[in-house]
Formats: sequence, structure tokens, C-alpha cells
Amino acid sequence: MSTLSLPPRLLMGPGPINCYPRVLSAMATQLVGQYDPVMTGYMNEVMALYRRVFNTSNQHTVLIDGTSRAGIEAVLVSALEPGDCVLVPVFGRFGHLLAEICERAGAKVHTIEVPWGEVFDPQQIEEAVQRVRPKLLAIVQGDTSTTMLQPLAQLGEICRRYDVIFYSDATASIGGNAFDTDTWQLDAVSIGLQKCLGGPSGSAPITLSPRYVELVRKRHHVEAGIKDSHHHGASGSRIQSNYFDIPMILDYWGEERLNHHTEAASMLFCARECAITLLDEGKDAVIARHKLAGDAMLAGIQALGLQPFGNLQHKMNNVVGVTIPHDVDGEAIRHTLLHRFNIEIGTSFGPLKGKIWRIGTMGYNARQDAVLHTLQSLETVLRQQRGPITGTPGAGVDAALAVYDENRQ
Ligand SMILES: *Cc1c(COP(=O)(O)O)cnc(C)c1O
Repeated sequence: MSTLSLPPRLLMGPGPINCYPRVLSAMATQLVGQYDPVMTGYMNEVMALYRRVFNTSNQHTVLIDGTSRAGIEAVLVSALEPGDCVLVPVFGRFGHLLAEICERAGAKVHTIEVPWGEVFDPQQIEEAVQRVRPKLLAIVQGDTSTTMLQPLAQLGEICRRYDVIFYSDATASIGGNAFDTDTWQLDAVSIGLQKCLGGPSGSAPITLSPRYVELVRKRHHVEAGIKDSHHHGASGSRIQSNYFDIPMILDYWGEERLNHHTEAASMLFCARECAITLLDEGKDAVIARHKLAGDAMLAGIQALGLQPFGNLQHKMNNVVGVTIPHDVDGEAIRHTLLHRFNIEIGTSFGPLKGKIWRIGTMGYNARQDAVLHTLQSLETVLRQQRGPITGTPGAGVDAALAVYDENRQ
């Protein structure tokens, strides 16, 4: 075995993406003990940083160790008891994931759907809430499988009116699109690092409202068969997971520092650096950079004569779906881009498998040069496969440059 030797790929798919260099450096930091005041000090810092990332004053803003779905699972498994009723509006693959996790938690899951490439009207969701009367509404904000961004702003008010816990998975969208936990009245949000935050996967920041925390703290709290004395008045069934038991995780992150897992310190260093990188540049500036890169990529794609997928009014800033032309072998194009150009773009799932590519411009890669290299390479590979196509050579790059130039004025 030799030392690690990876090709210098440019990751322009729907995530993961190349990390910010400073995030990679943070990951290589030497450890201290998990209760060393230096370490607990950094844990407190991370909580404060992610309150700013989430736009919230929620005390309970912590990391779940694991990839993004660890955050999803922790939030759902801790809140849901067998038989609880849940509403999951599904507009892409990750909606199905939320529904599946709720089902595994024993909940009665009601889904509503819109065609892939669309999002829900708040009224559709309100009607379903009225009909189903769920305990919890679980909805994705940005579903990378369709590139659509579900507006959440009006859903919190609906949930409060019907006394529903409001949860969103904002993994793919936060950092590149507006997100406002408190203003939108969310009770729980989970994210990951490997999309617009520019980190590796492996840490899932979550934020929880007092309302959510009160709900989960009421459930049985049992550690290794011994009833925990400071959780009186427990009601309902015991949380089915130890690792994802949010009351225990909060006790570990809280003043008590009750032992639970060993914090994944290297990932915490990454998560901290991702948040600092975002906040140093400024949340609005980072969103604007994602919007600009996304607009430039879209303009380039259209100038190449390719059709973007879905309702563009609701497209996420950080990823575009591209309809694969009928006369093109989509996988062969991806293969050549990867192996000859070192550029990765994404395929898709379910009903969109083989129908669209997904091209991301996220985090560190929401950059002009990354957009231009991708468009130039895609044009070349398309020309090689299809023969000369109509349109001016370099049209994709020119259109993307024009978007950047316009922005400069
Ligand atoms: C990419 C993505 C995830 C990723 O989950 P992992 O467990 O980190 O693979 C989760 N949710 C959404 C909406 C995503 O787009």
C-alpha cells in the first residue's frame, strides 16, 4: 500500500463538493480529551456559531455525529412514537427518505406529492394538515434530486395554528439559499456540511426549538436500564435509539456534560471552520455568490442548447438539472468528464434516472473558474459525442462570463 493518492477532481455534482482548504486544515488538528475545558469551550463555540448559521436563538443547537441523515434520524426518532401521525410532503427523493425514516420510527405516515420539478403551494400543505392532523410536519427545503427549493416561510404559521411540530431538512440548501429558523417558526432543522457549507460529510448540525425539546424530554429517558433520576414525569414510550436520543445528546452538550458518545472531534473542528468561513464572508454574500454561480451555470447550459429541468422559479441557487438530449449517452458523457477532464457531475434517481444530469455550484466550488471549466469541458465532450452542433463554439462559457460581467457593473 502506498500513501493516499487521489486525482484532483473538480466536484460539480449535487454534493459532496471540494472542501474549503481551511476546513481540510482544521480536520488535521491534534486532539484533546473530550472533557478538556479547551474541547468543551470549542463545543460551546460551535453551538453559538450554528445559531448564527441557522438564524436562531435556540439554545439547543448542536452537532449530531454522522452524515446528514444522522441529523434527520435523530430529530425524527426522538420525536416520534409508534402510532404518531406525520405529514410528509414529497417533491423528490429526500422527501421519500423522510417518510421512510418516520415509518421506521413506527409513525403513521401520510404523504402528499407534486410532480418532480415542482414545489408545494402552502395551501396544499394546509389542506393536508387539516385533513391528517399530524403531530409533525417533515419537509425538505432543497431537494437536490429535483433541484427544487420549497418555500417554507408560510408553513410555520400553519403548523402553529394546528399545533404541529415543524421540521425541515435543509442539508442541501442552507448557505446557498436564504434560511430563517426563527422567523419561519421551525421547531427542528437538520443539515450537513457537504453541500453549500463546503465541508466533508460526517457531521449534522441541528437546531431545536424549546417546543421540540419539551416534547422529547417528556419521553422516557433510560440509560443502560437505569431510569435517569432527573427526568421526572416521563410519558410516552422510550426513544428507540440510544445514539440518536436527543435528550441524552442535549445533556451531553449542556452544562451537565453527561457522558453519551465521544464527540467526533475532528468533524467538530470541520463544522466549526465551515461556520466561520460562512460567517466571515457573510451569509448574504455567500448566498449571492451561490446565486451568481448558479445563474451563470444556467445561462451557460441554455446557451449550449440544453434544457434545464423543472420550474426555474423554484430552482435552488446551487444546483441545476439538465435534461439529457435524446441523441446523447448521458453516462458516457459523465464518464469522459470524470476520467479525461477530472470533473464530476451528477446523475439522478427514480423517475429522473438517466433523464437529467445535475450540476452543482456549491461552497468552495461556487466560483467563476469552476463554472467556466465545467461548461467548456461539457461543450467539448458533447461535440465529440454528437459531432458539430449548431451554435457558436464557446457559447456556454461566453454566456456564463456575461452573467459575471453584468454582475460586476
Ligand atoms: C445531500 C442531501 C442529504 C445527504 O444526506 P447524507 O446522509 O449526508 O448523505 C440529505 N438531505 C438532503 C435534502 C440532501 O440533498
